[in-house]
Amino acid sequence: MATVALDPRLDSKTSQFISGKHRMLIDGKFVAAASGKTLPVYNPSTGEVMADVPEAEAGDVDRAVRAARRAFDEGPWSQFAANRITASQRGRLLNKLADLMETHLEELAELESMDNGKPLSVARVADVPLAIDLFRYMAGWATKITGNTFPISFPGDFLSYTLREPIGVVGQIIPWNFPLLMAAWKLGPALAAGNTVVLKLAEQTPLSGLRLAELIQEAGFPEGVVNILTGYGEGAGAPLASHDLVDKVAFTGSTEVGKLIVKAATGNLKKVTLELGGKSPAIVFPDADLDKAIAGTASAIFFNHGQCCCAGSRLMVHERVYDQVVEGVSKIADSIRVGSGLDPETQMGPLVSEEQYNRVTGYIDSGLQEGAKATAGGRQKADKGYFVHPTVLTRTTPEMKVVREEIFGPVVCAQPFSDADIDRIAREANDSIYGLAASVWTQNISIANKMARRIRSGTVWINCHNVFDAALPFGGYKQSGWGREMGAEVLNNYTEVKAVTTAL
Ligand code: NAP
Ligand code: MG
Repeated sequence: MATVALDPRLDSKTSQFISGKHRMLIDGKFVAAASGKTLPVYNPSTGEVMADVPEAEAGDVDRAVRAARRAFDEGPWSQFAANRITASQRGRLLNKLADLMETHLEELAELESMDNGKPLSVARVADVPLAIDLFRYMAGWATKITGNTFPISFPGDFLSYTLREPIGVVGQIIPWNFPLLMAAWKLGPALAAGNTVVLKLAEQTPLSGLRLAELIQEAGFPEGVVNILTGYGEGAGAPLASHDLVDKVAFTGSTEVGKLIVKAATGNLKKVTLELGGKSPAIVFPDADLDKAIAGTASAIFFNHGQCCCAGSRLMVHERVYDQVVEGVSKIADSIRVGSGLDPETQMGPLVSEEQYNRVTGYIDSGLQEGAKATAGGRQKADKGYFVHPTVLTRTTPEMKVVREEIFGPVVCAQPFSDADIDRIAREANDSIYGLAASVWTQNISIANKMARRIRSGTVWINCHNVFDAALPFGGYKQSGWGREMGAEVLNNYTEVKAVTTAL
C-alpha cells in the first residue's frame, strides 16, 4: 500500500480518501476484487504510487453484471415491480446525487487534480460543475421520455403508439482525460432512461469515480442499479464488453480499442455506442479577429494539456495571416505555466501517465524527424513527473504522422492554406479518418456557415472551440464514433422503441 506523503496543500478529507482502503461498488456493497489483487494509482506530478485500487477480473465483472441484471429485471428499479421507483423518483435521485456532488465539489476537484494532473483551478470550474450540470439536466429528462401516437393507414380501425423503454443492463467504459465528467456523461442518461449500469473506470484515474460511488450510495440508488469497477482494460473492460447479460455497451476512448469493443459485442449483438478519437481542425480565415483567433486556437489545443478528443490539433491558417497566427500561438504556448495541478499558478499540469508522456514526446520526435520545426516547446526532459511543454510544430504537411494520427497531448500542427475556394479548404479539413469536431474562425457569416455545413464532424464551433453544454449532442462522424452523448439525442442511445398496435 502507498506510504508516500501526500501534498500538504490537500484538504485532509481528500488525503484521507486517497490513502484509505479502496473498494468497488457491486450490488450495493463496497467490495475488494475476488482475487484480492490491486493495481497502483500514480500521482502524475511525481510519478509516485499514491493509492491502490481493486483489480477487477472476469469473475468480478460477472458478479456486477448479474447484480445489474437482477436490479433491472426484479428490483424496485424494474418498470413492473409493485414498489417500483417512478420516473419522477429517478429524477429526484439524480438531483440528489448532483446536490451531494455540489456539497463535495472541492474534494472531487482535488481528487481529479491529483489523479489526472489537471490544474485544481480548472477541475473546480470545469470538470466538477459540468458533471453536476449533466446529472441535473438528465434528471429533468427522466419524466420526459415519451413515445408518439400514429394515424396509421392499414385497413380497419387501429390505435398505434410507441413506447420508449430502457435497453436493460448497460456496460460503460471510460477514459482518464475527464474522469468524473465522463462518468457523468455515461451514468446520467443511462439512469434517467431507467437502465442499470456497470461502469469501468480508467486504470489511471479511478479516484473520483470511487468517491462518486460513495455519493451514489448516499443518494439512495437501489442496490445493483449502479455498479462501479476498477481494473484494466483487458482484464475488466473486455469481459464487460463481451458479457451475454449486457444489453448495451457504451465506450469512450481510443479508436483502436473502440474496434475491439465492436468485435467483443458480436456474441449477443448488444447495442454499441462509441465516442472515439479525433484530429480536429481549427481553421483561421484572413478576415478573422486575429487576437481572438490566436487565443482561441491556442486554448483549443492546450486546454486539458491537449488530452481532449476534440482538441484543435490541426491548425489550418490562411497564408496571409499564417506567420502572425503561428507567432501568436507560439507566444501563448511559451507563456503557459507548467507545474503541479495543486499549485494555484499552474496553467498546465503533467500528462496523465508515463505511457502518455512517452507517446506524446515520441510524436514530437517523429514530427521533427519528418521535417517539422518547433516554434514553441519541443522535447524537454522533466526531472520527475510527466510534464510536456506546449508545443507548436510548423511546416507540417498532410502526410506526416503527427498530422494524421491523434497525439492526445499539447502538440499542435500548423499548416497554411492559400485557397479562397471553400470546397477545397473543406476537403483538406476533412482529410482525416476522424470527424469529431472543428472550429472556423472568420467574421464572414456566409463563409462560417458554408464551412459548418461542409465539414464532416459531429460538432462545428464558429469563433470558439471546446464549448460544451449538457443540452448539446456530442459525438463523431467517420471513425470518431457511433451515436451521440448528451442532449436529448443521447436518450435514443439508451432506449429501445416499441410499436404497439391495437385493433379497436
Ligand atoms: P484506451 O485504451 O482506449 O482506454 C479507454 C478505456 O478502455 C479505459 O477504461 C481502458 O482501460 C479500456 N480498455 C482498454 N482496452 C480495452 C479492451 N480490450 N476492452 C475493453 N476496454 C478496454 O485509451 P488509453 O490507452 O487510455 O489512451 C490511448 C490513446 O487513446 C490516447 O493517446 C488517445 O489518443 C486515445 N484516447 C481518446 C480518448 C477520447 O476521449 N476519445 C480518451 C482517452 C484516450 P484501461 O484504463 O485499463 O486502459
Ligand atoms: Mg489503454
